[in-house]
Amino acid sequence: MSKETIRVRFAPSPTGFPHLGNIRTALFNWLFARHHNGYFVLRIEDTDVARMVEGATESILHSLRWLGFDWDEGPIFQSDRLDIYRGVADKLLKGEIAYHCYCSPRRLEEMRQEQTKKKQPPGYDRHCRTLTRKQKDEYEANGIAPVVRFASPLDGKTSFHDLLRGEIVFDNSTLDDFVLLKSDGYPTYHLANIADDHLMEISHVLRADEWLSSTPRHILLYNALGWQPPQFAHLPMILGPDKSKLSKRHGATAVTEYEQKGYLPEALFNFLALLGWSLDDKTEIMSSKEIIKNFSLDRISTTAAVFNREKLDWMNGVYIRNLPVTEFSRRAVPFLETLEVNRPLDDHYISRVMPLVQERAKTLAEIQELTGFFFHDKLVYDVHLLLNKLERQQAVYALQVSLSKLESLELWDSIYLEEIIRPLADELQLKTGVLFGLLRVAITGRTAAPPLFQTMEVLGKEICIRRLRAALVKL
Ligand code: GLU
Repeated sequence: MSKETIRVRFAPSPTGFPHLGNIRTALFNWLFARHHNGYFVLRIEDTDVARMVEGATESILHSLRWLGFDWDEGPIFQSDRLDIYRGVADKLLKGEIAYHCYCSPRRLEEMRQEQTKKKQPPGYDRHCRTLTRKQKDEYEANGIAPVVRFASPLDGKTSFHDLLRGEIVFDNSTLDDFVLLKSDGYPTYHLANIADDHLMEISHVLRADEWLSSTPRHILLYNALGWQPPQFAHLPMILGPDKSKLSKRHGATAVTEYEQKGYLPEALFNFLALLGWSLDDKTEIMSSKEIIKNFSLDRISTTAAVFNREKLDWMNGVYIRNLPVTEFSRRAVPFLETLEVNRPLDDHYISRVMPLVQERAKTLAEIQELTGFFFHDKLVYDVHLLLNKLERQQAVYALQVSLSKLESLELWDSIYLEEIIRPLADELQLKTGVLFGLLRVAITGRTAAPPLFQTMEVLGKEICIRRLRAALVKL
């Protein structure tokens, strides 16, 4: 592999369903790979058996595919590679840079409590670091399965250059002898992660900044193994609108929820790209092609990005409006399928309804609400809606006059309907808005709906007449 080849990885742990933060990390890695004609490796870090969540891996793969990311290698599962990590742990044991620890969970817990009581920093007290051969043999004879711990240097400093944050220095005295291999033979994150980044020839690690404190441990491991570490960039945090770390409290965070709510993947892609990266200070709407072309680490901010739901809704609306109407209809269909109406849905009818709401819909899921009256047989609405700024008598009379005009119509198109109804307002001495409002509620059951006459045209004469009569009955 040439020295310049860019190889990045997305390395999620299937301990939960992917949220926006996880996927933003995937996106930045993917963009970096695609911009540099490099490789994007997908690695599933499934070594924490106790914390695994059923279905999480599928959800990760699904979310990545839905957003249009492809990967050049993988998915590679760490659980298939346990021998490799054991081999690396052995190498460290042989070099005496790692050691067996026989401490029981109980002893560790007591140690922790003691440390809290004495207000000491938490961390392993290195009890087993200096065991004699004889002591070790005793533990072994008692059948105690050890963990493998890294023998961290006791003093000095570990530093690395973060591509976004510059020089980062840690005092080794703050790093404890962390576990590399658990007693069940599974590696910890630290061991498996660095072994794979090395073996998979990862050139750049772009990851969430919550991992920053793990990086000095990783650097120490690379050095101990005589391996060249990759370059690191720790991505800025994503905060909720209240400036605390983005979490479930801030509403939907799982990517699949956005899919179900009718966000377009290309809109979410664009939105996520701008959570921490920007082209300049103003450009918002960009295709994935443009983002790939312009993506660079120097435009990633080092301050936290703030998740702004209104902006996402706005952006999704822009993407919806920009879809060709046939494509918009096609994407709307799955959301109409959930309406409780007679089947099958008529494609031709759908293609006439959809242009009427494309301007207004901010999500595809909203289409159900916006267009339900096109598909339902009966409208359910509150009779008071018919009486906005009207006495009951006035409303009845206006509906009767409208009905008599409309019933005799031969031609039923929006232009003609408007020519007939608009002058009626004067005739009835009503404001046009008031008359239109009355008819709108009678015909759609809603006070806000797509343009009245186009709506009437699409619904057709029979349904409109039937609904106007039903409104009279209600009154
Ligand atoms: N498995 C870790 C995670 O779930 C990977 C962190 C890293 O990229 O090193 O995020």
